Amino acid sequence: MIIVLRPKSTDAQIEHVLERIHELGFKPHLSRGELRTIIGVIGDENKLQAEPFLAIPGVEQVLPILKPFKLASREFNPADTVVQVGRVRIGGGEMGMIAGPCAVESAAILDAIAGQVKAAGANLLRGGAFKPRTSPYSFQGLGEEGLKILRAAGQKHDMPVVTEVMDPRQVPLVQRYADMFQIGARNMQNFDLLKEIGQTRKPVLLKRGMSATVKDMLMSAEYILAEGNPNLVLCERGVRSFEDSTRNMLDLSAVPNVKGMSHLPIIVDPSHATGRPDLIPAMACAAVAAGADGVHIEVHSCPEKALSDGHQALLPKQYAELMDRLRRLAEVVGKKIS
Ligand code: PEP
Ligand code: MN
Repeated sequence: MIIVLRPKSTDAQIEHVLERIHELGFKPHLSRGELRTIIGVIGDENKLQAEPFLAIPGVEQVLPILKPFKLASREFNPADTVVQVGRVRIGGGEMGMIAGPCAVESAAILDAIAGQVKAAGANLLRGGAFKPRTSPYSFQGLGEEGLKILRAAGQKHDMPVVTEVMDPRQVPLVQRYADMFQIGARNMQNFDLLKEIGQTRKPVLLKRGMSATVKDMLMSAEYILAEGNPNLVLCERGVRSFEDSTRNMLDLSAVPNVKGMSHLPIIVDPSHATGRPDLIPAMACAAVAAGADGVHIEVHSCPEKALSDGHQALLPKQYAELMDRLRRLAEVVGKKIS
């Protein structure tokens, strides 16, 4: 349920409502907007509705949330959530431009790519140290060594770093090196991982599962939010379909669809969605036009030698050309790249 407080409610009144919720054995989630304070209460909706919250001073309205996802819903937070990763802000008109190789391969290769994507305007550096590969014989990532290389490149080029975490047991390790966790498509419904990540307060990039509906993705987001981590960005990366000329089918409608249902930022990954460098620029532009809060693109200085996903990597020069277009488009749709 959502408890809406009066515009001029005092801190003491808000505190009082929170105490009462705790006393009743429920978990409150406070959202202080510029104009209003809203408290989400999660628990048995029937029991909640039996409580006379309206009688508490400062409470203006009490509304049930009928959607299965509650904290992720637009009702819970009518304003757009802005997620801060280092000095980069994603959402509310600001864009996260994530770029880098699929996997961290060596310090020299990553350093070269990081310098080039940074010069092109990327503001977040990506690179996998733990890779979820379809085949157990494919390159699995450099593990902690990869995390160290990523951290060093991020520091040198002044970009916060994003990297995948695949298992709840890896969370403490990845947390030490990353500025933002990535939860990959294959792990979108790894509920133990979602809960573990929810226990931290580090920003999270949650990618849509390849067979997940938009609602499934929002339910996964709910797991992280329910544990108390509000720093969540969603990512549309294409879903499986009968079409076999692209790696996945990019569901661009997910962008405005999610924005209608949720306050969370959503970015688009045209690299994994299409698997084809010739299609990535058009789909990245379409994503920005559709209202995405950023794009996530794989870049490699020598795709033919890449240890994973080389077939879909853009060359740094292609990325720079694309970024020129994206910057102009961002301006047209009133967005900013910080
Ligand atoms: C990736 O970002 O390298 C990746 C594996 O993506 P996804 O989980 O979307 O397949
Ligand atoms: Mn990849």
